[in-house]
Amino acid sequence: MPPKRKDVCDCGVLESASKEPVHPIRWDERMNEYFIAHGKSGRMMIYYCPFCGGRVPESRRASMFAHVTQQEETRIFELFRGVRTVADVIAKFGPADEERQFASGVRKPSRDAKRERGEIFRGLVYKSLSPVADIVFEVGSSDSVRGTWIQKYVGEKNAC
Ligand SMILES: [Zn+2]
Repeated sequence: MPPKRKDVCDCGVLESASKEPVHPIRWDERMNEYFIAHGKSGRMMIYYCPFCGGRVPESRRASMFAHVTQQEETRIFELFRGVRTVADVIAKFGPADEERQFASGVRKPSRDAKRERGEIFRGLVYKSLSPVADIVFEVGSSDSVRGTWIQKYVGEKNAC
């Protein structure tokens, strides 16, 4: 018998599935989205939980991250203008606050690292360029970079 349909999913099925390295349901840490992986890099977005029918629990997660306004997003994209290589980044913003490995499209499985899938890339992280977002330059082949940002984590203070 199917479970009772919910307005907002809190059943945890998506979350636990996404933690399984071989499961097609994945969680994108940076975008904060669930999706179904198919083929090499295909993504089908999940808006409603296939188990309980509820809306994907984005509101709770959203409260854990600072809000980036449209205006701030525009300002951030302006920062990326003309920045194409690692050297451009350093020249414009100085040394990075942090260098991190990011996994795209997969949640890092906690135990068995060998089973980890997806693309891993190096990112130069700047924490003070925006009050609400960490600025990340993804480093690609021949030191080319792509600017992106991650909302700052502010904790669960707004959680119900
Ligand atoms: Zn659910």
